[in-house]
Amino acid sequence: MKLLEEQIKTRGTVLPGNVLKVDSFLNHQIDPVLMQAIGKAFADRFQNLGITKIVTIESSGIAPAVFTGLELGVPVVFARKKKSLTLTDNLYTSSVYSFTKKETNDISVSKNFLMKGDKILLIDDFLANGQAVLGLLEVAEQAEVEVIGIGIVIEKSFQQGRSLLEKTGYPIYSLARIASLEKEQIRFVEES
Ligand code: 5GP
Repeated sequence: MKLLEEQIKTRGTVLPGNVLKVDSFLNHQIDPVLMQAIGKAFADRFQNLGITKIVTIESSGIAPAVFTGLELGVPVVFARKKKSLTLTDNLYTSSVYSFTKKETNDISVSKNFLMKGDKILLIDDFLANGQAVLGLLEVAEQAEVEVIGIGIVIEKSFQQGRSLLEKTGYPIYSLARIASLEKEQIRFVEES
């Protein structure tokens, strides 16, 4: 997606450890015009597939997921990283290790919001080592919902997430694919 690649190039910065900082439009401050275009792009790819819900993980997955939900006309559910006081034991849960933050989070989704028969689209802001999406897939399995696809805003294709997720067989659609972040240069995967 050209607009997204331009924003990454002009507003993104590379931090040590192959981390891309995009907090001026995605991870802290949010650019609604860009998010709307992202929502449209995911909706175009996954329209007419009977999707009943978008599922994401807090907090940075929420903005792209909500704009996609708006386009597809379906609700958005986000997995929580901390247990809510009002959510008790009626939960699907999974553990997610973040290599970026070097911490494990238990993620949870209320059983009230995922039903057997739901057809879901998983969305996240980044795909790096794949742990966040694998955690969401585990939740989906517990809930016995059908996963229609996986939508990623920024994929770091040089990390193992892509190949791990490909093994699951679900369609993966990434709007920007980064080939490398070496020497602070952001290079994208060439379109074939
Ligand atoms: P994974 O579980 O695929 O390793 O990483 C996914 C999560 O880690 C994303 O939801 C995102 O929050 C965070 N993450 C991984 N790599 C990066 C990065 O380069 N930049 C930012 N901003 N977040 C990242």
